[in-house]
Amino acid sequence: MPITGGDIVDLGQGLYVWLPPHRGWGLANCGLLATPEGALWIDTPYDRALAGQFLAASQQRLPEGVSVDRVIVTHANGDHFWGAGVVPDAEIIVTRGAREHIHFEPTPQQQHALIASGDPDTPLGAYLSRHFGPFDWSETEPVVPTTYFTGELELTLDGHPVRIAALPPAHTTGDLIVHLPDHGTVFTGDVIFGSTPERPGDHPCHWAGPLSQVIEACEAVLATGAETVVPGHGPLLGPSGVRDHIDYLGHVRERAHTFHAAGIPVPEAALRIVAENRHPDLGLPERLAVTVGTEYRHLNGAAQTGVFEVMSEVAALARDIEQGLVPDFAPVRPHRSVGESAPVRAAGP
Ligand SMILES: [Zn+2]
Repeated sequence: MPITGGDIVDLGQGLYVWLPPHRGWGLANCGLLATPEGALWIDTPYDRALAGQFLAASQQRLPEGVSVDRVIVTHANGDHFWGAGVVPDAEIIVTRGAREHIHFEPTPQQQHALIASGDPDTPLGAYLSRHFGPFDWSETEPVVPTTYFTGELELTLDGHPVRIAALPPAHTTGDLIVHLPDHGTVFTGDVIFGSTPERPGDHPCHWAGPLSQVIEACEAVLATGAETVVPGHGPLLGPSGVRDHIDYLGHVRERAHTFHAAGIPVPEAALRIVAENRHPDLGLPERLAVTVGTEYRHLNGAAQTGVFEVMSEVAALARDIEQGLVPDFAPVRPHRSVGESAPVRAAGP
């Protein structure tokens, strides 16, 4: 079943956010800045059908004679830029790192073929079909960036500055954030996955890392001073929501380091974090296998694992969680290196 729906949120002064109809893999938030001088998107939906819906919603908000002629892409995962084919004449702006990273991702048609030909009787085939089957890339050509940069890039649209900053590797190699100071808004791409009690999101999956750099990226978001934060996925946040997300990342990092020091392999470490059940509202807990695997790779100084190997672990973990195969693990205490003192509790009255 194709995915339809989604909401447009008006942030004022020509800035809008398209929120997809629900959470889940591949359903990213997208921005529209529409001014009499021109219009741009920040990210696109995953496939042509969804991108067509976002384009139709955008066109209703464009001043007379204006079209979407620029797309700023926060990073080179397809769920943020494969929809750009619906605006074929637009300038496509990415970081130099993202431009290089594209070559490590499958093309849209490779991904389409892989999901269509997957064996539904294997955990991986069933998982990919369930989460990616609703998208259609059979007619999607690879998107070729037209502009790339390192460091920072500033555009001005109808007098409004659009500040684009490249980040060190975090969610992927080549992430960027977009700060619109006049609008008090920052678009973060997938360095932040939003969640609020009213609208819970999903667990992040970080491919590049390490998590210390994801946390630094979140701090760069806070340092803009923007009051409205548009994460790559999930609901809009304020600064306190970003701080909560930093706490989440710090917790996952601490658990990953503790389990790594105890010699626990990645799948069990991810399952243990699920069993601790600290974030019961977040969807897709199996994605902890990605993030924990990335952190272990940095701790081991190892090379990046292939995406299908990682997705096999994700699919196996999803199956275990779904079937209730989450054991009662004996606790593992945080690892403390020699010379580091134990936390001191203040004596109560
Ligand atoms: Zn994404």
